[in-house]
This record gives sequence, C-alpha cells and structure tokens, in this order.
Amino acid sequence: MKLYNTLTRTRDDFVPHEPGKVKMYTCGPTVYHFAHIGNLRTYIMEDVLEKYLRWSGYDVTRCMNITDVGHLTSDADTGEDKMLKGARREHKTVMEIAKFYTDAFFADCEKLNIQIPEIVVPATSYVDKFIHMIEVLIEKDYAYLSAGNVYFDTSKLDNYYVFGNQEAEDLAVGVREGVEADEAKRNKTDFVLWFTKSKFEDQELKWDSPWGVGYPGWHIECSAISLWNLGEYLDLHCGGIDNAFPHHTNEIAQSEAYLGHPWCSHWFHVLHLNTSAGKMSKSSGEFLTVSLLEEKGYDPLVYRLFCLGSHYRKSLVFSWEGMDSTKTAYQKLVSRIAALSPDDGEIDTASYDALRARFAEAMDNDLNTALAVTAVYDVLKAKTNDATRRALIADFDRVLSLNLLEAAEKVRLAQKAAADAQKAAHAAADADLVVTCLTEGVDPGTREEVEALIRERAEAKKAKDFARADALRDQLASMGVTLKDAKGAVSWEKK
Ligand code: AMP
Ligand code: ZN
Repeated sequence: MKLYNTLTRTRDDFVPHEPGKVKMYTCGPTVYHFAHIGNLRTYIMEDVLEKYLRWSGYDVTRCMNITDVGHLTSDADTGEDKMLKGARREHKTVMEIAKFYTDAFFADCEKLNIQIPEIVVPATSYVDKFIHMIEVLIEKDYAYLSAGNVYFDTSKLDNYYVFGNQEAEDLAVGVREGVEADEAKRNKTDFVLWFTKSKFEDQELKWDSPWGVGYPGWHIECSAISLWNLGEYLDLHCGGIDNAFPHHTNEIAQSEAYLGHPWCSHWFHVLHLNTSAGKMSKSSGEFLTVSLLEEKGYDPLVYRLFCLGSHYRKSLVFSWEGMDSTKTAYQKLVSRIAALSPDDGEIDTASYDALRARFAEAMDNDLNTALAVTAVYDVLKAKTNDATRRALIADFDRVLSLNLLEAAEKVRLAQKAAADAQKAAHAAADADLVVTCLTEGVDPGTREEVEALIRERAEAKKAKDFARADALRDQLASMGVTLKDAKGAVSWEKK
C-alpha cells in the first residue's frame, strides 16, 4: 500500500516493523466539550485506514489516549485551562466533565461506525509513567529544571523540525511566544514536560513528583501511552494536521531521546474540515456536532459518506447542500442494493476477484476512499449475478462501514410491509362486504364474475376513486345487473 508519510513527504510503501503486524497510535480527544464533526472527520479517516489494513490481512493493534488532564492549549502556558473552564461552566468536577465528554465521544463514534481502538488510556491513569519518562530524559541530559518547571531541551537534537517547513513552524512558535515569553526556557522551541509553576494556580488535578506538586505538559502523554502499550517501534501515528506541529514534533523529540533510536516510521495526518467561516475548532468558529446533524434529519452515516467522498489530504469544506446531495446519493445507492435478489445463485469467483482488486487498487493508492466508493457502483453495474454483487458489497463495507446491506434490507422489509398492508386492506374489504344475489338460476360463472366486479366497485369507492366505481356500475348495467347498496352490503338482480 502507498500511503503519504508526513515524515518523508512522499507516498511511501507502507511497511511495518514486524511483517504482518501493525502498531497504530491515534491522538485521542480532549474531553472538555463535545467532539465537532471536524474532529470526527479525522477519526473517520483513521477508522477507514485501520479497517483497510485489517482487510488487507494485517494484524493491527491500535491504541488511543484520552486527554483528560487540565492544561491543554499550548506549551507556553498561555491560553486557558479548558478542563477547568468546562467544569465551571457546567458546575461539575473536572473528572465528571472528562467522564461525560468521553462517553459522548464514544456515542458519536458508534453512530458514525467508528470502531473504538482496542486500547484506550486516559492520561490521568498514566502519570507515574510520565514521571518515569521525564526522570530518564533528565538523566540523559535532554531535559532540565528551570523556575519550577521541567523543560525538554530541543537544542540537544540534530533535527528538531522533523516534518520540515521550519519557517511556518518557527512563525507559529514565534506568535505564541510573542504573546507571553517564557523566560525560564533556554531555547524558544523548548517545551514543558512537567509544570509546578503555572499561571493556573487553581489547577484542580495535581500530582506529587520529584520536582514538586504539579501536572504533566501537553505532549508527554502520547509518547508514554504509546511506548507502554505498543512498544519501542511504532508503525503508524495518526492525527489531524494541526497535531503535526508542535504536538507530534515534540512527541518525536521526547520519545526518540528516551529510546535512543528512531521511533515511529509513518505519520498519517488528516486535513481539516472547514466551514465557509474557516477551520472548525473546539474553541472558536462554527461548531457542528453529530447530534445537530441528527436533529436536522441526517443519518450520521451520510456524514461518513460525505467524508469518504473526498481525499483525506485535502481540506474539506462542509456545507448543508453537500450533505443534501450525499443524503440523496446514499438513499439511491441503498435502494439499488435493495433491488438485488437475496438468493441469486453461486458467487462467480472470476468477477468477484476482479472487482475486489479494483477496490484494493483505490485504497492502496494513498487511501483513495472516493474511488473505493465508486467501486461499489462498479459492482452494481458489473456483468455478474446478484449473489456476487451482494458478497462484494458486504466485503467492501467491512472497510467503508456504511451499513449498506443492513440499510438495503430495511428498505426491502419496508417495501414488503407496505405491499402486505395493501393486500391485507383489500382482503379485509373483500371479506367485510356482504354480497347477495336476488335472482334465481344465475349460472355460477356469471355469478362469480358479477360479484368480483361488485367487490372491485366497493374497493374503488373506499379508495374514493368514484370515476372507476361509476365505470364498474355501468359495466354491470350493460350485463343486465342492477344494484341495491346498503351499509356493508350489496344485493343484485339480473334481468
Ligand atoms: P481535539 O479533541 O481538539 O484535540 O482534536 C481531536 C482530533 O481532531 C485531533 O486529531 C485534531 O488534530 C483533529 N481536528 C481538530 N480540528 C479539526 C478539524 N477542523 N478538521 C479535522 N480534524 C480536526
Ligand atoms: Zn497525541
């Protein structure tokens, strides 16, 4: 599989450290607020990547952190303590806030068919490991204590800016530093590993440490959680593009300094979801959630399809028009699948393999999910039988996770229920009507024909199709039949 690697800035062949096995790490959510659909775009694309690796035969172990520890916004100890702000806003403790929004995040994931990674670690459960790592970094002379805080010394590295683009990144550091310079740092890019002196004096969560009571810096959690759960060699590290600098840059700095060798070989970054007003973020701008999509009548899986329709390395602009056309496309696709016959012979292996290869080709090409969705339409158009089509759609949906066959089955059942209801209504109308013949000696064939027309006329009247009812009365009259209507009964005579 070719997959773009931010580290090499090329589409590399994805080759894990240990053949057949993939160790995958995902930067998890900050849990002081609901996830917005921008965050969830990143998690959807990571989910597709994980599922595709499994589909391709890899044994994947995936781990994710939950950022439930207070200070989150920057290395420079500027900004605000978002956890505490959330707690005050909602009159809850910081841990109650973390629990509530972690559960809300998982609920959103479930609605979007995002599989929760098998290992999920809240940062607050790993503080002893952070402390151990920081101790080792100090021992190895990569970290220093200054004005009460422990900093990572970036000047000790040959290449701190591993992802290149130093100018833009320098500028980003400059901007933050410009707001409030941290005099305790030796170098502009040094970052905090442990705070004891912070502008947030009323920090709620604090732990004892060799450097005094305090709390961890912003980046150490991902390094420690990854190292403890996935080992020394990581194959794949994922996150939104905003994580590349400084968060991932700092993760690499401290992990490799700690280990003494290269750490993660492949960096996967998803570009942002924007609105017409700019980037969607938790702290500013338009904030759209899965619940809001549902309130507006969209199945969350329509949003998943919306995301799959564009490449993860392009920023994606959200619009309601885009959601509407995706909703229509999803419904049409599902009804085409519903029209496939559920028992249409054996799978045709030649066409199965050829169409499966098309799907793999799209995904192997830097996770081209839009082409992978097109492969579903190719299956519907292909010259093969419905058993093969259904088997392929089930197979692709292990990765796309759009519930295609389940949704189609619902449509089929709904169509069947509607047809059954109509039949039952007709049968009930038939059964209720008492039809009596007042003329003796009518032959049974004529009698059957006349009474069928009488019942049809009664149904037409019930359906308020009076033109049809009148036409039937005329037809009966031309046969010499006269009718006498009563409530729930018709009697007839024949000349
Ligand atoms: P957060 O909970 O804010 O730390 O973000 C969780 C994940 O969402 C991270 O991987 C971020 O890089 C990513 N992210 C944040 N904003 C966006 C956005 N507008 N579009 C896509 N991903 C985003
Ligand atoms: Zn992280």
